[in-house]
Amino acid sequence: TSFLAARALAIKPSPSMAAKARVDQLRSEGRDIVDFTVGEPDADTPAHIVEGAIDALRAGQTRYTPTAGTAALLKAVQGKFERENGLRFGLDQIIVGVGAKQLIFTALAASVQEGDEVIVPAPFWVSYPDMVLANEGKPVIVVCDEANGFKLTPQVLEDAITPRTKWLILNSPSNPTGAVYAKEELAALADVLLRHPQVAVLTDEIYEHLCYGEAPMASLAKVAPQLADRVLTVNGVSKAYAMTGWRLGYAAGPKVLIRAMATQISQNTSCVSAVSQAAAVVALTGDQAGVAEARETYRARRDRVVALLNAIPGIRCAVPDGAFYVYPSVQALLGRRTPQGKILANDLDVVMYLLDAAGVAVLDGAAYGLSPYIRLSFATSMSQIEEGCDRIAKACAQLR
Ligand code: PLP
Repeated sequence: TSFLAARALAIKPSPSMAAKARVDQLRSEGRDIVDFTVGEPDADTPAHIVEGAIDALRAGQTRYTPTAGTAALLKAVQGKFERENGLRFGLDQIIVGVGAKQLIFTALAASVQEGDEVIVPAPFWVSYPDMVLANEGKPVIVVCDEANGFKLTPQVLEDAITPRTKWLILNSPSNPTGAVYAKEELAALADVLLRHPQVAVLTDEIYEHLCYGEAPMASLAKVAPQLADRVLTVNGVSKAYAMTGWRLGYAAGPKVLIRAMATQISQNTSCVSAVSQAAAVVALTGDQAGVAEARETYRARRDRVVALLNAIPGIRCAVPDGAFYVYPSVQALLGRRTPQGKILANDLDVVMYLLDAAGVAVLDGAAYGLSPYIRLSFATSMSQIEEGCDRIAKACAQLR
């Protein structure tokens, strides 16, 4: 028997982290790689946030803070939910964590019993199923195909629910597809959930500010207030304010759950680093102009990458409504032969071919639960987007 616990052996390292390591390795060998795997904004954290953090350090914000977060940050998060989402939460319904990632993990750790089912619509952010497994739950993957915009429909949800269903995880805007649920679509899912009071919903809204449609992002807790006592809304500063390295997320929901999550955190990380919390206060309460500017930068890149990919025979790319990813189909490349004589049998073969033949790093749809697709992040410069797509086009043209 292994020294390691079964729940540790049940999970694998994040594929996007692994891809980053592979790109770094190839670059260290001197290869010129266009990297479309990156899941973070390419910009630095805005200067006023960095200055605020430095001021906080000089003012002595260098100690442990309350587990759920500093009073100033909890108030800032409360204000953000009210201002941007029309949601009112008491301060005891809010918690901050080491990224949205820790909060999602902690919510599951605080609630999932062995064998509890967690519905994860696919394509999914790679961490959800593994986080469920790490907490001895059972991920129930439901495929949401492209014909439905990669979105969960009420019927598919209804069919997936059992008496053991504990959670549904929703992610809008979505990583990896960029799908965004409209208000009406969330309301239709809420109708199903109202019939199944055992099911709680974790809604991951980390890409909220990267929504390219007319309407602001619809938040489930606002659309369906009847579900308030079982919706956990998760968000953070990573993507909205280019603050991935600060590691700060926040969540709001039912008091009992928030309290249990705080107890978990009190026994693992104690609290988020004080300086990161101070920086997040500045991000959430300071000048918001940069958020809209970043959105317009991403929109231009999105339009460009979609157009360039759709011009490549064999690739078909839908226009994402949010986030900074495209998820094109590579169905028409399968069965083709590379100049080295290898037949491309699946999306991972396509990924490896593009890396070897074109020096372009992308991720395979298989890792996200729906094939045959690849994921490209457009959180990179316009010139890299153009260079990368040009290389992909040339590599595809060499297939027979
Ligand atoms: N949720 C989704 C869908 C993500 O794509 C990511 C990061 O890639 C996260 C959560 C994690 O965000 P954080 O940096 O706040 O932990």
